[in-house]
Amino acid sequence: MTATIGADGRPAAAPDPKLTPARLARASEQFASDVAYATKAEEHVWVVAVTHTITVDDARSWTEGGQVVLGPDSIVLTHVRCFRCFTSFEPRLVGKRCRGARQ
Ligand SMILES: [Zn+2]
Repeated sequence: MTATIGADGRPAAAPDPKLTPARLARASEQFASDVAYATKAEEHVWVVAVTHTITVDDARSWTEGGQVVLGPDSIVLTHVRCFRCFTSFEPRLVGKRCRGARQ
């Protein structure tokens, strides 16, 4: 078992596993800002794309503004790549310039 320690040396609160449209909107706004910075700096933006399967009821709930709890049991695919240039992660690319997506 792993634990996250906060800056004050105390155990950090566990993140809320509930994913709601509002929470996703806030995260997306922050990510857009981070990508804009990386674009100016020509840096890769490494992301893990995780695909989960959900039920029809979950999908319906999500589109109606509800929440869906995602967990390790629903993961079907993962892929580490650069959000800007779509290149799969390789250690040799660390610190290298990212030119973004090819046209
Ligand atoms: Zn890149």
